Amino acid sequence: MPLQIVHHPDYDAGFAVNHRFPMSKYPLLMEALRTRGLAGPNALNTAEPAPASWLKLAHAADYVDQVITCSVPDTIEREIGFPVGPRVSMRAQLATGGTALAARLALRHGIACNTAGGSHHARRAQGAGFCTFNDVAVASLMLLAEGAAHNILVVDLDVHQGDGTADILRDEPRVFTFSMHGERNYPARKIASDLDIALPDGTGDAAYLERLATILPELSARARWDIVFYNAGVDVHAEDRLGRLALSNDGLRARDETVISHFRARRIPVCGVIGGGYSTDVPALAARHAILFEVASGYA
Ligand SMILES: [Zn+2]
Repeated sequence: MPLQIVHHPDYDAGFAVNHRFPMSKYPLLMEALRTRGLAGPNALNTAEPAPASWLKLAHAADYVDQVITCSVPDTIEREIGFPVGPRVSMRAQLATGGTALAARLALRHGIACNTAGGSHHARRAQGAGFCTFNDVAVASLMLLAEGAAHNILVVDLDVHQGDGTADILRDEPRVFTFSMHGERNYPARKIASDLDIALPDGTGDAAYLERLATILPELSARARWDIVFYNAGVDVHAEDRLGRLALSNDGLRARDETVISHFRARRIPVCGVIGGGYSTDVPALAARHAILFEVASGYA
């Protein structure tokens, strides 16, 4: 069976091409996956909007209602970085439902990936930093509530610290949050994960991969994990507009290979989400995000 991929055309909320958030990476990622032969009919699964009852497991009920009814206060919209109109609202619900579906597919097939997700700056009370709902936190709490998982590990390798995930899950002992990120990157005030590793500006492939290889055995020794959520943000790349680390394409591929092979060798299901990536060269950016799917397809 091919790698199971979750997707929806409305992951693209149609921002202007010069918007700081490169929305066109979503359709271009799908094009890249088709070009690579990864998006056949047996591979694609269509995301459905996450129901409000799931969203409210992770987020304040009043904030969930504000997003669904497109009445988010201006102050919060400014922290998110864009207005929450009907398309953005639906996109947030779909991306979250997509990660939940990818998690279920991972539990069934060993590995699955969402072509969106990794909105790790959304906190319990509100969104922030281009993140409306925290899909990984919602999916984790949904799996726990349904009894589909009992011990969950979050491996967040986006260049930015996973402050929202840490905030939402800080009192949830059944989910362990790990973030490895650029020390001087957003957010300025970090919220402690269960384990954080902050890397200096300019950390390149060799030092990054060495740190990763030493930490993974420690993480898998902590518990018998039922599932790992892997945030494979590509903003660690040297050419990323927002990141301050300096990974190459080969470094990205080695990173994804290291993480996925580690957990799959231990038969732990892996749910991949794409996380952040910012570049004015959006086709190059989409190709960077496609690396996760290329690597994951080797373990499907
Ligand atoms: Zn990021």
